Amino acid sequence: MGLAAALEAALADILGPEAVLTGEGAAAYAVAGLAPTAAVRPATVEQLAAVMRLAHARGLAVLPWGGGTMMGLGNPPRRYDLAVDMRHLDRVLEHEPADLTCTVEAGIAIGDLRSRLAAAGQTVGLDPPWPERATVGGTLATAIAGPRRYAWGHPRDFTIGMRVVLADGRITRAGGKVVKNVAGYDLCKLYIGSLGTLAIIVEATFKLLPLPRASAGLAFSFPGPGPACQTARELWRRGLAVTGMALQTQGGQYELLVDLGGSPGAVARSQREATELAVAQGGREAGSEPFWQEALASPVASRHLTVRLTVLPSRLAEALASLEALGPTLVVAFPTVGHIYARWPEGADARAVVGQALAVARAVGGTGVVHSWPWLAAGAPLVDVWGPPPPSAALMRRVKEAWDPAGVLAPGRMVAGI
Ligand SMILES: Cc1cc2nc3c(=O)[nH]c(=O)nc-3n(C[C@H](O)[C@H](O)[C@H](O)COP(=O)(O)OP(=O)(O)OC[C@H]3O[C@@H](n4cnc5c(N)ncnc54)[C@H](O)[C@@H]3O)c2cc1C
Repeated sequence: MGLAAALEAALADILGPEAVLTGEGAAAYAVAGLAPTAAVRPATVEQLAAVMRLAHARGLAVLPWGGGTMMGLGNPPRRYDLAVDMRHLDRVLEHEPADLTCTVEAGIAIGDLRSRLAAAGQTVGLDPPWPERATVGGTLATAIAGPRRYAWGHPRDFTIGMRVVLADGRITRAGGKVVKNVAGYDLCKLYIGSLGTLAIIVEATFKLLPLPRASAGLAFSFPGPGPACQTARELWRRGLAVTGMALQTQGGQYELLVDLGGSPGAVARSQREATELAVAQGGREAGSEPFWQEALASPVASRHLTVRLTVLPSRLAEALASLEALGPTLVVAFPTVGHIYARWPEGADARAVVGQALAVARAVGGTGVVHSWPWLAAGAPLVDVWGPPPPSAALMRRVKEAWDPAGVLAPGRMVAGI
């Protein structure tokens, strides 16, 4: 029996043959042009633990896979034998409306979770683009907060417990189900943003939010980044009922999208004040729909070169004006967070563009990473998408070695090739 067939048989023993994909089925889980030998769909945490024991014993490289909306993020994996599709682990395990907490399996889609919580007038602070696909585990593992971060906080603020499967198959917990419960190191915070390199998240417990009683969406169009950013800052400074803001531009005009939420009175007043403010800054009401989510957070997005800059909100307009000169085809910014995504079409001189974009970030005291670099798929070792290793890289490497000494989980995807 060949190696692939032996692996398939061993996996089928654990999961049943219908939960093991090979050939074209496994090819659908390719990352940066690299397809795994097999993909599995565990239905219980115990099955997943057994898969990891097998992978660990055989030294197989494993990539967890949620909704697949952000698999292009990170360096290409150094090795890739097995994809673990988490989407069959999708139950709500506990929801305590009176305590505003819930515990869910990591493969549940955020949209599904949100609609279940909405029945109790509650929601979770995760708001990824493409919520019907993005999963809880994938969203926590990437930890990219978006336009609502300032109002709702970062996932690290409201994820209070986790259950994970370690690289060798052991199942452990971090945190718990009450709001203030961590004695010792808060390992939840370490797993959030670890991109599947330390452990596979199988459960998460969240502090929830009440759904606002009223909400509204506004859109304003501005001729340039300065007045758009000024409007956003002023909206925020006034303490209006703003839950999120995004700035999108494609072809010259800057569109500021403002989400409002709160009591009906607060939303109506904020709506009036926001419109007056935008008009005073030279803006005009626009009927635009947000296009940035689909543009930046889908498998299609990874076919483009996208750079993510992080700058102080007060320097955002300056950075946007400098980026314009580099000719991106799409720019999206979150004014209260200071994130900018800038995208160039396939065929752009990637190395030059990335260097110039990162120089823009540095010039305003910010930082930058490559969010997606499609040419990596060709296998060329072009850049570390995270940039030069940070001063803490050696310490991070030791963390990785403590959790995953055999280098089984997502090898190479993190900062400094961890
Ligand atoms: C412009 C932009 C705005 C965003 N705004 C927001 C926002 O407002 N709020 C928000 O919450 N998110 C936001 N995100 C984050 C983004 O949408 C998430 O990264 C996405 O939800 C990933 O979910 P997924 O299930 O598709 O993950 P996948 O694409 O399947 O996986 C992503 C990564 O996580 C790893 N992974 C997947 N599942 C697990 C698991 N169970 N355990 C360990 N590792 C795992 C994968 O190996 C991979 O490295 C934003 C992203 C972008 C680009």
